[in-house]
Amino acid sequence: MDAKSIFLNHLAQTSPHPLAIAVDYASGSYIYDQSGKKYLDLISGIAVSNIGHSHPAIIKAVKEQAEKYMHVMAYGEFIQAPQNKLAKKLADLLPEVLDSSYFVNSGAEANEGALKLAKRITGRTEIVAFKKSYHGSTHGALSVSGNEVKKNAFRPLLPDVKFLEFNNPDDLVGITERTAAVIIEPIQGDAGVRIADQNYLNSLRNRCTEVGAQLIFDEIQTGFGRTGKLFAFEHYGVTPDILTIAKAFGGGMPIGAFISSKPKMNSLTHNPMLGHITTFGGHPVNCAAALANIEVIQNDRLIDRVESKGKLLEELIAHPGIKEIRRKGLMFAIEFETADLVQKIVKRCIENGVIAFWFLSCPESFRLAPPINISDEDIREGARIIHEAISTCC
Ligand code: PLP
Repeated sequence: MDAKSIFLNHLAQTSPHPLAIAVDYASGSYIYDQSGKKYLDLISGIAVSNIGHSHPAIIKAVKEQAEKYMHVMAYGEFIQAPQNKLAKKLADLLPEVLDSSYFVNSGAEANEGALKLAKRITGRTEIVAFKKSYHGSTHGALSVSGNEVKKNAFRPLLPDVKFLEFNNPDDLVGITERTAAVIIEPIQGDAGVRIADQNYLNSLRNRCTEVGAQLIFDEIQTGFGRTGKLFAFEHYGVTPDILTIAKAFGGGMPIGAFISSKPKMNSLTHNPMLGHITTFGGHPVNCAAALANIEVIQNDRLIDRVESKGKLLEELIAHPGIKEIRRKGLMFAIEFETADLVQKIVKRCIENGVIAFWFLSCPESFRLAPPINISDEDIREGARIIHEAISTCC
Protein backbone atom coordinates (compact mmCIF):
# COMPACT_ATOMS: atom_id res chain seq x y z
CA MET A 1 0.00 0.00 0.00
CA ASP A 2 1.41 3.42 -0.87
CA ALA A 3 1.60 6.24 1.65
CA LYS A 4 -1.44 8.06 0.29
CA SER A 5 -3.64 4.95 0.43
CA ILE A 6 -2.60 4.26 4.04
CA PHE A 7 -3.27 7.91 4.89
CA LEU A 8 -6.72 7.85 3.33
CA ASN A 9 -7.76 4.39 4.55
CA HIS A 10 -6.17 4.03 7.96
CA LEU A 11 -5.98 7.54 9.32
CA ALA A 12 -9.25 9.16 10.39
CA GLN A 13 -10.10 11.97 8.01
CA THR A 14 -11.80 15.21 8.90
CA SER A 15 -12.44 16.55 5.42
CA PRO A 16 -13.34 14.97 2.08
CA HIS A 17 -10.39 16.62 0.34
CA PRO A 18 -7.26 16.73 2.56
CA LEU A 19 -4.23 18.43 1.00
CA ALA A 20 -2.29 15.16 1.41
CA ILE A 21 1.15 16.72 1.03
CA ALA A 22 3.54 13.87 1.93
CA VAL A 23 6.02 15.60 4.24
CA ASP A 24 9.65 14.61 4.11
CA TYR A 25 11.12 17.26 6.39
CA ALA A 26 10.64 20.88 7.42
CA SER A 27 13.15 23.59 8.20
CA GLY A 28 12.74 27.31 8.88
CA SER A 29 9.91 28.70 6.76
CA TYR A 30 9.83 25.69 4.40
CA ILE A 31 8.22 22.25 4.29
CA TYR A 32 9.70 19.72 1.81
CA ASP A 33 7.63 16.88 0.40
CA GLN A 34 8.68 13.37 -0.58
CA SER A 35 9.12 14.36 -4.22
CA GLY A 36 11.53 17.15 -3.28
CA LYS A 37 9.03 19.96 -3.86
CA LYS A 38 9.37 22.77 -1.35
CA TYR A 39 6.54 24.81 0.11
CA LEU A 40 6.91 28.20 1.73
CA ASP A 41 4.77 27.82 4.84
CA LEU A 42 2.92 31.12 5.16
CA ILE A 43 0.56 29.80 7.85
CA SER A 44 3.12 28.26 10.27
CA GLY A 45 1.12 25.03 10.61
CA ILE A 46 -1.73 27.33 11.65
CA ALA A 47 0.02 29.78 13.96
CA VAL A 48 2.31 27.20 15.57
CA SER A 49 5.78 27.43 14.02
CA ASN A 50 6.25 31.10 14.91
CA ILE A 51 10.04 30.66 15.06
CA GLY A 52 10.05 28.44 11.97
CA HIS A 53 10.05 24.67 11.66
CA SER A 54 12.52 22.49 13.56
CA HIS A 55 14.42 25.38 15.08
CA PRO A 56 17.82 24.15 16.34
CA ALA A 57 17.18 25.56 19.83
CA ILE A 58 13.97 23.52 20.11
CA ILE A 59 15.68 20.36 18.85
CA LYS A 60 18.47 20.83 21.40
CA ALA A 61 16.03 21.40 24.29
CA VAL A 62 13.94 18.38 23.31
CA LYS A 63 16.95 16.09 22.97
CA GLU A 64 18.55 17.19 26.23
CA GLN A 65 15.35 16.80 28.24
CA ALA A 66 14.41 13.47 26.62
CA GLU A 67 17.79 12.10 27.65
CA LYS A 68 17.24 13.21 31.28
CA TYR A 69 13.63 12.14 31.79
CA MET A 70 10.31 12.14 29.98
CA HIS A 71 7.02 11.42 31.74
CA VAL A 72 7.58 10.63 35.40
CA MET A 73 4.28 11.44 37.12
CA ALA A 74 0.81 12.84 36.45
CA TYR A 75 0.39 16.61 36.77
CA GLY A 76 1.11 18.48 39.96
CA GLU A 77 2.88 16.03 42.27
CA PHE A 78 6.60 16.06 41.53
CA ILE A 79 8.91 19.05 41.18
CA GLN A 80 10.18 18.98 37.59
CA ALA A 81 12.76 21.58 36.58
CA PRO A 82 11.42 22.22 33.04
CA GLN A 83 7.93 22.98 34.44
CA ASN A 84 9.35 25.17 37.18
CA LYS A 85 11.55 27.19 34.82
CA LEU A 86 8.74 27.69 32.34
CA ALA A 87 6.21 28.74 34.99
CA LYS A 88 8.71 31.24 36.44
CA LYS A 89 9.52 32.62 32.99
CA LEU A 90 5.82 33.18 32.25
CA ALA A 91 5.26 34.78 35.66
CA ASP A 92 8.15 37.18 34.94
CA LEU A 93 6.76 38.09 31.51
CA LEU A 94 3.09 38.50 32.43
CA PRO A 95 1.25 41.00 34.64
CA GLU A 96 1.30 40.17 38.37
CA VAL A 97 -2.26 38.81 38.40
CA LEU A 98 -1.17 36.13 35.94
CA ASP A 99 1.48 34.49 38.08
CA SER A 100 0.29 30.89 38.21
CA SER A 101 0.29 28.53 35.22
CA TYR A 102 -1.49 25.22 34.76
CA PHE A 103 0.11 23.32 31.86
CA VAL A 104 -2.04 21.19 29.58
CA ASN A 105 -1.65 19.54 26.18
CA SER A 106 -3.61 21.70 23.74
CA GLY A 107 -5.61 24.85 23.20
CA ALA A 108 -9.00 23.23 23.70
CA GLU A 109 -7.80 21.77 26.96
CA ALA A 110 -6.50 25.15 28.13
CA ASN A 111 -9.96 26.61 27.56
CA GLU A 112 -11.66 23.68 29.29
CA GLY A 113 -9.49 24.31 32.35
CA ALA A 114 -10.11 28.07 32.22
CA LEU A 115 -13.89 27.61 32.11
CA LYS A 116 -13.84 25.19 35.02
CA LEU A 117 -11.60 27.54 37.00
CA ALA A 118 -13.98 30.47 36.42
CA LYS A 119 -16.92 28.41 37.64
CA ARG A 120 -14.99 27.41 40.73
CA ILE A 121 -13.86 31.00 41.48
CA THR A 122 -17.32 32.54 41.10
CA GLY A 123 -19.65 29.70 42.09
CA ARG A 124 -21.67 30.68 39.00
CA THR A 125 -22.51 28.70 35.88
CA GLU A 126 -23.24 31.07 32.99
CA ILE A 127 -20.57 31.48 30.33
CA VAL A 128 -20.65 34.38 27.90
CA ALA A 129 -18.93 33.91 24.55
CA PHE A 130 -18.93 35.55 21.11
CA LYS A 131 -20.45 34.89 17.75
CA LYS A 132 -18.00 33.41 15.20
CA SER A 133 -15.43 32.66 17.92
CA TYR A 134 -13.39 29.47 17.94
CA HIS A 135 -12.09 27.96 21.17
CA GLY A 136 -11.53 24.30 20.32
CA SER A 137 -13.26 21.09 19.38
CA THR A 138 -13.87 19.31 22.72
CA HIS A 139 -17.38 19.52 24.19
CA GLY A 140 -16.79 22.48 26.50
CA ALA A 141 -14.65 24.46 24.08
CA LEU A 142 -17.09 23.75 21.25
CA SER A 143 -19.98 24.90 23.46
CA VAL A 144 -18.45 28.37 23.74
CA SER A 145 -17.47 28.55 20.07
CA GLY A 146 -19.72 30.59 17.83
CA ASN A 147 -19.99 28.54 14.64
CA GLU A 148 -23.48 26.98 14.63
CA VAL A 149 -22.80 24.72 11.64
CA LYS A 150 -19.86 23.08 13.42
CA LYS A 151 -21.86 22.65 16.65
CA ASN A 152 -25.30 21.44 15.63
CA ALA A 153 -24.43 17.80 15.01
CA PHE A 154 -22.99 17.46 18.51
CA ARG A 155 -25.76 18.81 20.70
CA PRO A 156 -26.58 18.74 23.55
CA LEU A 157 -23.56 20.81 24.49
CA LEU A 158 -22.91 22.81 27.68
CA PRO A 159 -26.03 24.58 28.97
CA ASP A 160 -26.04 28.21 30.15
CA VAL A 161 -23.86 29.65 27.37
CA LYS A 162 -24.85 33.02 25.94
CA PHE A 163 -23.43 34.57 22.75
CA LEU A 164 -22.82 38.27 22.25
CA GLU A 165 -21.84 40.12 19.11
CA PHE A 166 -18.09 40.76 18.99
CA ASN A 167 -17.10 44.44 19.21
CA ASN A 168 -20.66 45.60 19.95
CA PRO A 169 -20.64 47.63 23.19
CA ASP A 170 -24.46 47.61 23.37
CA ASP A 171 -24.37 43.83 23.92
CA LEU A 172 -22.22 44.07 27.06
CA VAL A 173 -25.31 44.42 29.29
CA GLY A 174 -25.71 40.69 28.60
CA ILE A 175 -22.87 40.14 31.09
CA THR A 176 -24.49 40.08 34.54
CA GLU A 177 -24.14 38.92 38.16
CA ARG A 178 -25.04 35.44 36.85
CA THR A 179 -21.96 35.30 34.59
CA ALA A 180 -19.05 33.12 35.70
CA ALA A 181 -16.82 33.87 32.73
CA VAL A 182 -16.59 35.81 29.53
CA ILE A 183 -14.32 34.07 27.03
CA ILE A 184 -13.02 36.12 24.12
CA GLU A 185 -10.22 36.18 21.56
CA PRO A 186 -8.97 39.80 21.67
CA ILE A 187 -8.36 39.32 17.96
CA GLN A 188 -10.72 36.68 16.63
CA GLY A 189 -8.71 34.23 14.53
CA ASP A 190 -11.02 31.83 12.74
CA ALA A 191 -13.69 34.49 12.35
CA GLY A 192 -11.21 35.93 9.82
CA VAL A 193 -8.98 38.22 11.92
CA ARG A 194 -11.54 40.50 13.61
CA ILE A 195 -9.69 43.02 15.76
CA ALA A 196 -11.36 44.24 18.97
CA ASP A 197 -11.62 48.02 19.37
CA GLN A 198 -9.69 49.60 22.22
CA ASN A 199 -12.82 51.17 23.75
CA TYR A 200 -14.68 47.93 23.45
CA LEU A 201 -12.07 45.92 25.35
CA ASN A 202 -11.91 48.65 28.02
CA SER A 203 -15.69 48.48 28.44
CA LEU A 204 -15.63 44.69 28.47
CA ARG A 205 -12.99 44.68 31.20
CA ASN A 206 -14.97 47.21 33.23
CA ARG A 207 -18.22 45.32 32.85
CA CYS A 208 -16.61 42.04 34.00
CA THR A 209 -15.09 43.75 37.04
CA GLU A 210 -18.41 45.45 37.85
CA VAL A 211 -20.40 42.19 37.91
CA GLY A 212 -17.61 39.91 39.20
CA ALA A 213 -17.29 37.79 36.03
CA GLN A 214 -13.91 36.29 35.17
CA LEU A 215 -12.54 37.65 31.90
CA ILE A 216 -10.77 34.93 29.90
CA PHE A 217 -8.55 35.98 26.98
CA ASP A 218 -7.99 33.13 24.55
CA GLU A 219 -4.60 33.99 23.05
CA ILE A 220 -4.05 30.55 21.61
CA GLN A 221 -3.75 31.89 18.08
CA THR A 222 -2.57 35.44 18.86
CA GLY A 223 0.22 34.57 21.31
CA PHE A 224 3.99 34.49 21.03
CA GLY A 225 4.61 37.45 18.79
CA ARG A 226 2.01 36.75 16.13
CA THR A 227 0.41 40.22 16.34
CA GLY A 228 3.55 42.27 17.05
CA LYS A 229 3.51 41.89 20.85
CA LEU A 230 4.21 38.77 22.88
CA PHE A 231 0.45 38.67 23.59
CA ALA A 232 -2.27 40.65 21.84
CA PHE A 233 -3.66 42.02 25.12
CA GLU A 234 -0.47 44.09 25.42
CA HIS A 235 -1.67 46.24 22.49
CA TYR A 236 -4.66 47.23 24.60
CA GLY A 237 -3.24 47.44 28.11
CA VAL A 238 -6.20 45.35 29.26
CA THR A 239 -5.40 42.40 31.53
CA PRO A 240 -7.63 39.33 31.73
CA ASP A 241 -8.34 37.31 34.89
CA ILE A 242 -7.41 34.14 33.04
CA LEU A 243 -5.19 33.79 29.97
CA THR A 244 -5.13 30.71 27.73
CA ILE A 245 -2.22 29.87 25.43
CA ALA A 246 -1.17 26.95 23.21
CA LYS A 247 -0.22 26.60 19.51
CA ALA A 248 3.09 28.54 19.16
CA PHE A 249 3.80 28.16 22.91
CA GLY A 250 5.79 24.93 22.43
CA GLY A 251 7.88 25.92 19.40
CA GLY A 252 6.31 22.98 17.54
CA MET A 253 5.70 20.71 20.53
CA PRO A 254 2.19 20.22 21.98
CA ILE A 255 1.62 22.28 25.10
CA GLY A 256 -0.99 24.74 26.33
CA ALA A 257 -1.71 26.54 29.58
CA PHE A 258 -4.37 28.40 31.48
CA ILE A 259 -2.88 31.10 33.63
CA SER A 260 -4.34 33.13 36.49
CA SER A 261 -3.43 34.39 39.96
CA LYS A 262 -2.16 31.98 42.59
CA PRO A 263 -5.11 32.56 44.98
CA LYS A 264 -7.59 31.91 42.17
CA MET A 265 -5.73 28.81 40.99
CA ASN A 266 -5.80 27.48 44.54
CA SER A 267 -9.54 26.97 44.16
CA LEU A 268 -8.70 23.81 42.20
CA THR A 269 -7.04 22.27 45.27
CA HIS A 270 -10.16 21.78 47.41
CA ASN A 271 -13.92 21.16 47.17
CA PRO A 272 -13.10 18.91 45.39
CA MET A 273 -9.36 18.47 45.64
CA LEU A 274 -7.81 17.52 42.27
CA GLY A 275 -10.30 19.94 40.66
CA HIS A 276 -8.54 19.60 37.32
CA ILE A 277 -6.17 16.77 36.49
CA THR A 278 -4.18 15.57 33.50
CA THR A 279 -1.68 12.77 32.99
CA PHE A 280 0.55 14.39 30.39
CA GLY A 281 -0.07 18.12 30.99
CA GLY A 282 3.26 19.88 31.53
CA HIS A 283 5.25 17.09 29.90
CA PRO A 284 8.88 17.92 30.72
CA VAL A 285 10.07 17.65 27.10
CA ASN A 286 7.35 20.03 25.93
CA CYS A 287 8.06 22.45 28.78
CA ALA A 288 11.76 22.47 27.85
CA ALA A 289 10.80 23.20 24.24
CA ALA A 290 8.41 25.97 25.32
CA LEU A 291 11.11 27.64 27.40
CA ALA A 292 13.58 27.46 24.50
CA ASN A 293 10.92 28.96 22.23
CA ILE A 294 10.45 31.98 24.50
CA GLU A 295 14.22 32.41 24.76
CA VAL A 296 14.59 32.43 20.97
CA ILE A 297 11.83 35.04 20.66
CA GLN A 298 13.51 37.18 23.31
CA ASN A 299 17.18 36.70 22.38
CA ASP A 300 16.64 37.22 18.66
CA ARG A 301 14.34 40.19 19.38
CA LEU A 302 11.88 38.69 16.89
CA ILE A 303 8.91 40.76 17.98
CA ASP A 304 10.64 44.03 17.07
CA ARG A 305 10.27 43.28 13.36
CA VAL A 306 6.83 41.66 13.22
CA GLU A 307 4.97 44.85 12.33
CA SER A 308 7.43 45.91 9.60
CA LYS A 309 7.41 42.41 8.10
CA GLY A 310 3.61 42.38 8.19
CA LYS A 311 3.49 45.76 6.49
CA LEU A 312 5.92 44.64 3.79
CA LEU A 313 3.87 41.52 3.03
CA GLU A 314 0.65 43.54 2.97
CA GLU A 315 2.12 46.08 0.55
CA LEU A 316 3.49 43.42 -1.77
CA ILE A 317 0.24 41.44 -1.88
CA ALA A 318 -1.93 44.51 -2.63
CA HIS A 319 -4.08 43.81 -5.70
CA PRO A 320 -7.27 45.41 -7.06
CA GLY A 321 -9.02 42.01 -6.82
CA ILE A 322 -8.72 42.06 -3.01
CA LYS A 323 -11.76 43.42 -1.20
CA GLU A 324 -10.08 43.93 2.17
CA ILE A 325 -6.98 42.97 4.13
CA ARG A 326 -7.41 42.66 7.90
CA ARG A 327 -4.06 42.42 9.65
CA LYS A 328 -2.35 42.75 12.98
CA GLY A 329 1.40 42.12 12.85
CA LEU A 330 1.82 38.90 10.88
CA MET A 331 -1.78 37.71 11.30
CA PHE A 332 -3.70 38.24 8.06
CA ALA A 333 -7.12 37.74 6.52
CA ILE A 334 -7.25 38.49 2.80
CA GLU A 335 -10.87 38.97 1.75
CA PHE A 336 -12.43 38.58 -1.72
CA GLU A 337 -15.89 38.96 -3.21
CA THR A 338 -16.68 35.24 -3.11
CA ALA A 339 -15.72 32.07 -1.27
CA ASP A 340 -15.28 30.36 -4.63
CA LEU A 341 -12.53 32.80 -5.57
CA VAL A 342 -10.80 32.15 -2.25
CA GLN A 343 -10.89 28.41 -2.90
CA LYS A 344 -9.26 28.87 -6.30
CA ILE A 345 -6.58 31.29 -5.10
CA VAL A 346 -5.54 29.10 -2.15
CA LYS A 347 -5.34 26.03 -4.40
CA ARG A 348 -3.21 27.88 -6.93
CA CYS A 349 -0.88 29.18 -4.19
CA ILE A 350 -0.36 25.64 -2.89
CA GLU A 351 0.25 24.26 -6.40
CA ASN A 352 2.89 26.95 -6.83
CA GLY A 353 4.61 26.21 -3.54
CA VAL A 354 3.06 28.65 -1.05
CA ILE A 355 0.91 27.34 1.77
CA ALA A 356 -2.03 29.65 2.46
CA PHE A 357 -5.19 28.32 4.11
CA TRP A 358 -8.88 28.82 4.82
CA PHE A 359 -10.66 29.98 7.98
CA LEU A 360 -13.28 27.98 9.88
CA SER A 361 -15.85 30.78 9.96
CA CYS A 362 -14.93 33.15 7.15
CA PRO A 363 -15.13 31.52 3.70
CA GLU A 364 -14.62 34.80 1.80
CA SER A 365 -11.10 35.21 3.20
CA PHE A 366 -7.92 33.19 3.38
CA ARG A 367 -5.35 33.30 6.15
CA LEU A 368 -1.67 34.07 6.26
CA ALA A 369 0.37 33.70 9.44
CA PRO A 370 4.02 33.27 8.41
CA PRO A 371 6.79 32.42 10.86
CA ILE A 372 7.65 35.67 12.66
CA ASN A 373 11.32 35.16 11.76
CA ILE A 374 10.59 34.80 8.03
CA SER A 375 13.23 36.54 5.89
CA ASP A 376 12.33 39.56 3.77
CA GLU A 377 13.46 37.55 0.76
CA ASP A 378 10.91 34.82 1.54
CA ILE A 379 8.24 37.46 2.11
CA ARG A 380 8.94 38.80 -1.40
CA GLU A 381 8.87 35.33 -2.94
CA GLY A 382 5.65 34.39 -1.13
CA ALA A 383 3.98 37.65 -2.10
CA ARG A 384 5.00 37.16 -5.74
CA ILE A 385 3.32 33.74 -5.86
CA ILE A 386 0.19 34.95 -4.05
CA HIS A 387 -0.04 37.97 -6.36
CA GLU A 388 0.25 35.75 -9.41
CA ALA A 389 -2.48 33.45 -8.02
CA ILE A 390 -4.81 36.41 -7.45
CA SER A 391 -4.14 37.79 -10.95
CA THR A 392 -4.86 34.38 -12.51
CA CYS A 393 -8.07 33.76 -10.58
CA CYS A 394 -9.64 37.23 -10.43
N1 PLP B 1 -8.55 28.85 20.56
C1 PLP B 1 -8.20 29.45 19.43
C2 PLP B 1 -8.30 30.93 19.31
C3 PLP B 1 -7.76 28.69 18.33
O1 PLP B 1 -7.42 29.29 17.19
C4 PLP B 1 -7.66 27.28 18.48
C5 PLP B 1 -7.21 26.44 17.36
O2 PLP B 1 -7.24 26.80 16.22
C6 PLP B 1 -8.04 26.71 19.70
C7 PLP B 1 -8.47 27.52 20.72
C8 PLP B 1 -7.96 25.22 19.90
O3 PLP B 1 -6.65 24.81 20.01
P1 PLP B 1 -6.28 23.26 19.79
O4 PLP B 1 -6.49 22.97 18.35
O5 PLP B 1 -4.85 23.15 20.23
O6 PLP B 1 -7.19 22.47 20.68
